[in-house]
Amino acid sequence: MQYQRSSSLFKEAQEVIPGGVNSPVRAFKAVGGTPIFVDNAQGAYLYDVDGNRLIDYISSWGPMILGHVYEPVIEALTARAKKGTSFGMPTELETEIAKLAIEMIPNMDKIRFVNSGTEACMSAVRLARGYTSREKIIKFAGCYHGHSDSFLIQAGSGAITFGAPNSPGVTQGTAKDTLLAQYNDIESVERVFEQYPNEVAAIIIEPVAGNMGCIPPNKGFLEGLRSLCDRYGALLIFDEVMTGFRLAPGGAQERLNIRADIATYGKVIGGGLPVGAFTASNEIMNHLAPDGPVYQAGTLSGNPLAMAAGLAMLNALNQQPEMYDRLDKKTERLHLGMEERISVTGLPYQINRFGSMVSLHFTNTPVIDFTTAAEGNNDYFKKYFHGMLKEGVYLPPSAFESYFLNDALTNEDIDFTLYAFERVIKGL
Ligand SMILES: *Cc1c(COP(=O)(O)O)cnc(C)c1O
Repeated sequence: MQYQRSSSLFKEAQEVIPGGVNSPVRAFKAVGGTPIFVDNAQGAYLYDVDGNRLIDYISSWGPMILGHVYEPVIEALTARAKKGTSFGMPTELETEIAKLAIEMIPNMDKIRFVNSGTEACMSAVRLARGYTSREKIIKFAGCYHGHSDSFLIQAGSGAITFGAPNSPGVTQGTAKDTLLAQYNDIESVERVFEQYPNEVAAIIIEPVAGNMGCIPPNKGFLEGLRSLCDRYGALLIFDEVMTGFRLAPGGAQERLNIRADIATYGKVIGGGLPVGAFTASNEIMNHLAPDGPVYQAGTLSGNPLAMAAGLAMLNALNQQPEMYDRLDKKTERLHLGMEERISVTGLPYQINRFGSMVSLHFTNTPVIDFTTAAEGNNDYFKKYFHGMLKEGVYLPPSAFESYFLNDALTNEDIDFTLYAFERVIKGL
């Protein structure tokens, strides 16, 4: 495959955009080489500016769960655009999508729309703090909740729980209110609560982690968080930006049958447009402006184009619940096919899968948290990524990202992927 045009576009972009991209993972830093510039996409395929066709396993990091250029979404968008693209006034569309979302999501009474997953998580934490009158939050090493300051925190030196900024620009003051625990390690959470029994406003977690590869929760782990929250009067925030409308119509809450106090959304909920949202009970949501004192706002929040795309997407998902099973089966086909082929090579590997999320780590240690995810061999990963790319398969360009399958993928696409996989891993 040729990437001349991508290469020259990347050079041009780097002169006017930091790193040539508007979101770092796109720059291929983890795998090296030149990012692919997309021209268009249809169904399960990406077509790049050099005329290559790639099978897409990132689905725009989730939103394209039904494939690219999904007709009902495109139709809703085009029809809506002709009526005006932003008003700064309420529209009926917002109530319509809110009703549908609340119907699909378990346990929640009200929803507020924002413009990204980052905003949703940031607002959810502010709401939790306002509601509980407490300041600290607990997050898990390796979980991603967007790029707002409170979440750009890593394990600090010294005491286990103290957070330290993991980006310049995040203040020590912010870091001290984010306490770190280990995914799948309930005792690490208990220790934090014992240290700060009356100060934790909320735990925020990806109920199935997707930002250190795919890491499912161990049996009992989320239940354990639920009961610790109840015991200590903290709220449980599920960050369902990835899992929402992907693992089930009602996301991880439905699939795993655990109640969160606040849940955040993004990705699928916008049908490919920039949308985020957070939901909670009336009791909690009553604290949000303009009903309550916790401030939150947005000029383009509830934007009619974004709401039209989101509504068409949610309607499509709500009307075909059997899609979830089908997508899970496709993902299973990929998973088992990879397992069968890599298990005979002697390469170190772990494949984690939950629903339509799956990831391959080049390590023999079970990947259950950030530490074990970081043990993966990145040299293998780089070669694997570029090998697959040469074969026409676009995987996440980082070992810390999950694959997101979409329903436009056929069994033939998956088998094509598996033949490519076999050739590529033999060459590692
Ligand atoms: C993508 C993601 C976010 C951030 O959403 P953006 O729309 O990129 O701001 C937050 N949480 C999780 C779990 C995500 O995967």
